[in-house]
Amino acid sequence: MTLRNALMAGAALAVLAPAAQADVNIYSYRQPELIQPLLDAFTQETGIRTNVAFLTKGMVERLQAEGKRSPADIILTTDISRLAEAVAAGVTQPVDSPVLQAAIPAAFRDTNNQWFGVTTRARIVYAAKDRVDPAEVTTYEDLTDPKWQGRICTRSGTHSYTLALVAAMIHHHGEDYTRDWLKGLKANLARKPQGNDRAQVKAIWAGECDISLGNTYYMGEMLADDEQKEWANSVNVLFPVFQEGGTHVNISGIAMTKAAPNRDDALKLMEFLASPKAQEIYAEVNYEYPVAPGSEPSALVASWGSFTPDDVNLIELASLRGAALRLVEEVDFDG
Ligand code: FE
Repeated sequence: MTLRNALMAGAALAVLAPAAQADVNIYSYRQPELIQPLLDAFTQETGIRTNVAFLTKGMVERLQAEGKRSPADIILTTDISRLAEAVAAGVTQPVDSPVLQAAIPAAFRDTNNQWFGVTTRARIVYAAKDRVDPAEVTTYEDLTDPKWQGRICTRSGTHSYTLALVAAMIHHHGEDYTRDWLKGLKANLARKPQGNDRAQVKAIWAGECDISLGNTYYMGEMLADDEQKEWANSVNVLFPVFQEGGTHVNISGIAMTKAAPNRDDALKLMEFLASPKAQEIYAEVNYEYPVAPGSEPSALVASWGSFTPDDVNLIELASLRGAALRLVEEVDFDG
């Protein structure tokens, strides 16, 4: 064997080894620390091993490039638009599972069984305890009120969390209203959009702004962090609603890839993630809201209050993402 052949054989082994050892292969946009406790519980219960490739971008392109030879069985991601994108690209397959249909309410799964939501999260307002009366925060529409001038912090308008909220605003009020809403919100910002959701709470703690937009579970993550605990304790979690609607929610979800070489075991993993045990882990470890009826949020998450989720259809939300991005760019929201 020449050196070159030996190296190539080694390279091939290196590529194949993880897939050969694992029974279910996962491509995930969700972070390792969030997902591993769930996968460990799955392996403990079923003996089926898992292998995760954590991606930060390009999942659909990778699945398309790999085609039928893709080692991936399952994709894990947050945000309905990413699930919808995978379906539109043809890299998923429908999963006909009575278990999943019974465990996940119809509003949180695809009518064609291409994707399944496993948790929800609400996009809420973090408000300075010492400077904002909770009764002052009412609707998303009201965030353009001049009383908030120079007092709001938020992350980029082009981030998927913001775009989903803007898409929901378009659903409720149309594009013209939403363009004005974005202009009004921009006019009330204390600083240009920057940083992640937690950075906005830090800015409230530091006195740079009084309210911010953020996802619910970050409150739990900040409270669990020695440095960030102070930021979290400086704010209240408040649940705004849309006029004549509810609080904006998004999902994290799963889909089976079109290639799925380990289909049977992959289905077992999907069904496990919707089971009471996994739903409880999501609630306790990730501070998310379980979707399965009968599964409760953690005591900490429940202590922030309850809310009525907005009733916008998730697929419609995904379909309005392009329009939302166009408006965000048109008003130069981040500029
Ligand atoms: Fe997040």
